[in-house]
Amino acid sequence: MNRPLDETWFTEVFDSQGSAFSLKVNEKLLDVQSPYQHLEVYATQTFGNLMVLDGCVMLTDRDNFLYHEMIAHPALFTHQNPRRVVIIGGGDCGTLKEVLRHPGVEKVTQIDIDEEVTKAAERFFPALTESNDDPRAELLFADGVKWVDEADDASIDVLIIDSTDPVGPAEGLFKTDFLKRCHRILKPGGVMVQQSESPLYHSGSIIRELRRDMQAAGFDSVATLPFPQPVYPSGWWSVTLAGKDCDVCDFREQAAAESAMALLYYTPEAHRGALTLPPFMRQAFDV
Ligand code: SAM
Repeated sequence: MNRPLDETWFTEVFDSQGSAFSLKVNEKLLDVQSPYQHLEVYATQTFGNLMVLDGCVMLTDRDNFLYHEMIAHPALFTHQNPRRVVIIGGGDCGTLKEVLRHPGVEKVTQIDIDEEVTKAAERFFPALTESNDDPRAELLFADGVKWVDEADDASIDVLIIDSTDPVGPAEGLFKTDFLKRCHRILKPGGVMVQQSESPLYHSGSIIRELRRDMQAAGFDSVATLPFPQPVYPSGWWSVTLAGKDCDVCDFREQAAAESAMALLYYTPEAHRGALTLPPFMRQAFDV
C-alpha cells in the first residue's frame, strides 16, 4: 500500500541510498541531548522499544538478538581460549550480555563514551542489562580511541568494536591508526571484530576499506560475516573479524555445537554459512 506517513511513525531516512525505514510508534519515552549525541527512545507498535541515536536506529526489543549474537559469538568461538575481552561502544549492554555467556571469559571491560546510553538501556531495555552485575563485567564511560591508545601491548584476547556509524564520536573507530593500535593491544592469537555496516550498500566502500585497513594494520586474516537486521538500512548488516596470528575463517565448531547457550540466531551452521560470501561481496573484496 502506498500512503503518506504521519507523525505517528518514526522514520530513519538514508539519504545517500534514497531509502528509508519506518516503525509505527505509540509514544516517545525519552528525549535527551547528551554531550555526544541526541538520544531518543520510543515505544513502537510491533517492535517493542526502539533506541535512536542522532536519528539512526540503534536497536529494538524485537530484533536486537541478531546483531548482538553475531557481533559476539563468531569472534568468541574463533578465539581458541577467550579470557580477556574488551568492548568499545556497546553502551546498550546487549553485546556484554552475550560475551558473559561464555564461561571461560574472566573479565570484560566495556568502554562507551556516553553514560546516557547505558542509563537508557537500564530503564527501557532491562533484558539487555541483566548481566551488568556479573563480577566479571567492568563498565567504563570514556572515549574508546583514547582507552585503546593507553592500553598495554598484547593484553587482550578479543576486542569488539560495537560502535555507531563512522560519523560523529565513532569516526575515529574506523581509522587505520586506530586499527594499528587495536592490533598492538591484542595478544598473539587475538581476534578483533567490528560492526561494518550494510553488505548491500557498503561492500564496495566502507567494508572494503575496513578490510584493507585491517590488513594494513598487520592483521593476518580478515572475514566479513553478513546477517539479517531488519531495522538497519537495507535490512542487512555485517561484522568484520580480523585475526592476529590466527585464521578468522576457522572457528571452534565443536565447542559452538556443544555450548549450552540458549541463543536465538547464532549456531555453528549459521556461522559457517555467514563465512561463505555471496559472489557480489567476493567481487567487491577481490577474494
Ligand atoms: N548496534 C549499533 C549499530 O550498529 O548502530 C551500535 C549500538 S551501541 C548503542 C553504539 C555505541 O557506540 C553508542 O552507545 C555510542 O555512545 C558508542 N560510541 C560511539 N563513539 C564512541 C567512542 N569514540 N568511544 C566509545 N564509545 C563510542
